Amino acid sequence: MTGTEFNFFSGPAMLPPEVLERAREGLINFNSSGMSVMEISHRSDAFLAVLRSAEQRLRSLLYIPGNYRVFFLQGGASMQFSMVPMNFLTSGGAADYVVTGTWGAKAFKRASEIGAAKVINVRSDDGFTTVPLQEELGFSADARYVHYVSNETIDGVEFRYDLDGFGVPVVCDASSNILSRQIDIDKYSLIYAGAQKNIGPSGVTVVIIRDDFLETAHRGQGVLNYRSFAGNDSMPNTPNTWGVYMIDLVCEWLQNEGGVEAIEKRNAAKADLLYSAIDNSDGFYSGTAEPAARSRMNVTFRLQSEEKEAEFCVAAEKAGLVGLRGHRSVGGIRASIYNAFPVEGVEKLINYMDEFAQTNR
Ligand code: PMP
Repeated sequence: MTGTEFNFFSGPAMLPPEVLERAREGLINFNSSGMSVMEISHRSDAFLAVLRSAEQRLRSLLYIPGNYRVFFLQGGASMQFSMVPMNFLTSGGAADYVVTGTWGAKAFKRASEIGAAKVINVRSDDGFTTVPLQEELGFSADARYVHYVSNETIDGVEFRYDLDGFGVPVVCDASSNILSRQIDIDKYSLIYAGAQKNIGPSGVTVVIIRDDFLETAHRGQGVLNYRSFAGNDSMPNTPNTWGVYMIDLVCEWLQNEGGVEAIEKRNAAKADLLYSAIDNSDGFYSGTAEPAARSRMNVTFRLQSEEKEAEFCVAAEKAGLVGLRGHRSVGGIRASIYNAFPVEGVEKLINYMDEFAQTNR
């Protein structure tokens, strides 16, 4: 974001303006080398330093201990939907899936193509509006892992707790809320996240995997095997070097902002402001998720009709509020307010919502 617009896109999403400024230098003349960071070998010392720095910053921000590996993959979070079962389900057993939204349903579908996958939570009839309580979940006796999506980007539904597998390895798609709140990393065997919401640009996926789980990965399949990332400086082939560079800059920015602890407070405040505006609109706006499962990253709500929603988005764009249209599969309005999104943008949206409600009641 460089102009007066506020960017509510769900991903790729806005990046911190300071990061874009820094990236401008790296794009043309990286560390005074006379070359772009995109023009240097991924095996060069200069790039290795970037890779190590990005990894270290992630480790420090999320308190990732030494018995976890951090990898930068390509193929998006969608590739992880297939790669997880390819690595952990092909040798038998079952996989438990907690499905609380569109992305979890996709992940489950991919796993079903590969092995015995099972949905273990009860889904309500009126779409995805909630998440189960930990005590409502029971795992299969032969479960190789349990998979869930900590924040459902399309449906605006988020877990407020770290799921406990009670011995079953937990695999989490944290694409749209990684680095937005503190997590208890020890609860997870594998966390993956497409970068394009909270960590950087599209085209790079962060995978955090515990050593003992990695050891159990099925062999073969080249770069589709997590084990292939364990040697060769975590690079079995050429990574998205620009993406890794951007992750390093975004993580540096977040460290300077006070880390995950500080951004979590800001995210809670931003989301509270917006949900209060929805709840205090006398029914003009209605939130789609149950209050206890409301996402702090993707605030989804509806107006009385699709026509009004369309008008709302068109006029919002004219007012400099961009990217508010809900995902095409569910409609409605979605305000994505990731780490980099400023509170001023939320305030401007709330003012706009007030005015729109007053003139359209
Ligand atoms: N999981 C979640 C939670 C997402 O929000 C998305 C979409 N951004 C995906 C998976 C798919 O990501 P990608 O387009 O990077 O494959």
